[in-house]
Amino acid sequence: MAGLKKVLIIGGGAAGMASAIFASEKCCDVHVFEHNEKLGKKLFITGKGRCNFTNACDPEDFPGNIVTNTKFMYSSFDRFNNRDAIDFFEGLGVKTKVERGARAFPASDHSSDIIRAMEREMKANGVKIHLGSHVKDLILEPYEKEQEKNVSGDISAGAVPGKGRSGNRKKKSHEKIIKGIRLENGHEIYGDAVILCTGGRSYASTGSTGTGYELARKAGMQVNDTRPALVPLLTKEEYIPEMQGLSLKNVSLTITYGKNGKKKYQGFGEMMFTHKGVTGPLVLSASSLLGKWLQEGPLKAEIDLKPALDEEQLEARIIREFEGAQNKQMKNVIAKLLPAKLRPVILRISGISGEKSVNLITKEERQSLIHFIRHFPFTITGTAGFDEAIITQGGIHVKDVDPKTMESKTTKNLYCIGEILDVDAFTGGFNLQIAWSTAYAAAQACV
Ligand SMILES: Cc1cc2nc3c(=O)[nH]c(=O)nc-3n(C[C@H](O)[C@H](O)[C@H](O)COP(=O)(O)OP(=O)(O)OC[C@H]3O[C@@H](n4cnc5c(N)ncnc54)[C@H](O)[C@@H]3O)c2cc1C
Repeated sequence: MAGLKKVLIIGGGAAGMASAIFASEKCCDVHVFEHNEKLGKKLFITGKGRCNFTNACDPEDFPGNIVTNTKFMYSSFDRFNNRDAIDFFEGLGVKTKVERGARAFPASDHSSDIIRAMEREMKANGVKIHLGSHVKDLILEPYEKEQEKNVSGDISAGAVPGKGRSGNRKKKSHEKIIKGIRLENGHEIYGDAVILCTGGRSYASTGSTGTGYELARKAGMQVNDTRPALVPLLTKEEYIPEMQGLSLKNVSLTITYGKNGKKKYQGFGEMMFTHKGVTGPLVLSASSLLGKWLQEGPLKAEIDLKPALDEEQLEARIIREFEGAQNKQMKNVIAKLLPAKLRPVILRISGISGEKSVNLITKEERQSLIHFIRHFPFTITGTAGFDEAIITQGGIHVKDVDPKTMESKTTKNLYCIGEILDVDAFTGGFNLQIAWSTAYAAAQACV
């Protein structure tokens, strides 16, 4: 092994395994430290056990699906994009398929095929896997020699001559250098580079317990507050749990903030009621955009249950229903308009008795019904917790990480990749693509 660079990878999840493969392809001595008894526990449950490992969209559409710190991803995505990810897994022997919304999956529908293929490749490349190995600390030393580079002695990109104490501008440089890691059992392992990829905080039972944030802080990096994202939303009104299990398709959801009703989210699609709030694709996407507003207080939301009809068309439709059923009770007449669980709720908030016969309905009552079909209201009080969140928002501040190499700007030879970074995306395979792209960038740079 003499002469080979030794790379220590903290975390055997998606990003850890990918970086191990990419680094080992460059003939490094690669070690993965994973505190679970197996690799890729979270990867196993992704895509409901089917692993939506990337999105086969036009690569140009990828940035539009990154919610936080989009620009940070440009460079690494350019070098290893979604098409590269598909080629990569096909190359590992995983047949892939693309479904609705360009979501890419293993053709077998088994996430275990992705994990097994990566394990096979790591074994073939001689990667050493250390299971049951909790990394407790980083071995860091001051990085004095390089602390202040000046332009005349050492040309650095972006340096401007004529600034600084001696006429040369000082470049912000590494304060520390990483020498190795320390395990919980006290063992110290030394290496040339360390890749930190301990994931976020969501679904902690998979091993992503957030321990890496403390390690990042010790290495001098800023860690932004974390919060659950791609997560169900909690609601206030007692009528929401009444509709538990009801799924609405082709509806429009609008969420506003503050007294002036500033629009914070609008989307069209599918959502569902739960025993404590709402969930489904529309809601998960909304949750990624609302987190910081929710910290300020509750948000108002409304569903347009008939977005395909304009106001007049909806009124004409309702009048038609009423005309054909003059002596029937309201609760029966609206059966053609709304799903069963929604009917009593909408009548109640519209102030109409379900027993009332249609010929007794006033114009005001009809207008009220139309209003609540267009603006079905509820209040969002917060998000569910990390145990229900697909992703963690927040994490290592990207200003402290070089977007080309993923190297920490505060600690030399330390690389940070995957969900531990303050970068997150919508559902559709984009979050795993962040893991693959950043893993590739770090592996290319650290060897
Ligand atoms: C239910 C669910 C479904 C999802 N579905 C999808 C999907 O279909 N498509 C998609 O793109 N994204 C999906 N995601 C998100 C995706 O799983 C993550 O973005 C991705 O796993 C992040 O990869 P990572 O390697 O950064 O972190 P992780 O996969 O979380 O891996 C981190 C690893 O580090 C280990 N670790 C932590 N601390 C230490 C320590 N101190 N010492 C040693 N080991 C440590 C952990 O045990 C873990 O194995 C889903 C997430 C969830 C929760």
